[in-house]
Amino acid sequence: DLETLGMLIRERTVADDGAEAEAGANLGDEARAALLRCHAILAERFPLAHAAMRVDAINDFSLLYEWEGTDDGLEPVVLVAHLDVVPVSAEQASQWSQPPFGGVVEAGEVWGRGALDVKGRVVSHLAAVEALLAAGTAAPRRTVYLAYGHDEEVGGYEGAASIAAELERRLGGRRVAALLDEGGAVTKGAIPGMGSLEVALVGTAEKGYVCISLKAESKGGHAAWPPLDGTPVTAVSRALAAVHAKQPAPRLTQPVAGMLERASALVAEPYRTIFANLHVFGALLARVFGWKGEKANALVRTTQAGTRF
Ligand SMILES: [Zn+2]
Repeated sequence: DLETLGMLIRERTVADDGAEAEAGANLGDEARAALLRCHAILAERFPLAHAAMRVDAINDFSLLYEWEGTDDGLEPVVLVAHLDVVPVSAEQASQWSQPPFGGVVEAGEVWGRGALDVKGRVVSHLAAVEALLAAGTAAPRRTVYLAYGHDEEVGGYEGAASIAAELERRLGGRRVAALLDEGGAVTKGAIPGMGSLEVALVGTAEKGYVCISLKAESKGGHAAWPPLDGTPVTAVSRALAAVHAKQPAPRLTQPVAGMLERASALVAEPYRTIFANLHVFGALLARVFGWKGEKANALVRTTQAGTRF
């Protein structure tokens, strides 16, 4: 349903934690109004789905759909996406071949911010439900939840967190059979030895992260006669360089080792033998991945990145 996706893209549901965001808010008034228009578009474009499912706006701007299953003994599944998108700066906008919020549909493709991340998923879910209902499926056996946050790109504190609390309340301690989020991509070359084979990552674990801000101060001065040991900019640069120079040791964690063992049947030698015998080669392989490329490196160690100055 490309036209519906185009309509959603034209709604600027921009979540911005940068300077343009309102003080204390992840989403400006314009984004909030756009989110509500997205709700209306979905209701209008998927009438069967909206009649068959319970729909609730969570914390006003997120959406939780519940499609009740016929078999109470089965644990439900949760399909997750989000309605917000990351900003487009004026500088970036000039590099787009189509306007980022134009939602242009051309030659069977939709262009715009959020087409991939991740309004396309929202439309896919609801179009699937609509098609099933139109084809005569009254209800699934397993209850299906569709959960769409509205501030995922800036942490999900208002949206995902509220949806999680609501799901916990409704499920009353029951587990879910599966939760499918946007996850990784279908890639080529992320796993050494796999050649041109396309690989889809099934996420079974997620790395944690911590954000640290470094701050330096000085008593001030003049650029024409600067302090002998540099300015606060020099101090922060030195600290960043020192942190970068001290990389944590590479190691194979259980989820990565499990993935490589499964992949062993698909890769060329020598990786085939190595992946199938990680009890022998694991430590060596972790070191090789450490310099093989940025994605392989991220599989085997805690990484660090200076992102703003
Ligand atoms: Zn996303």
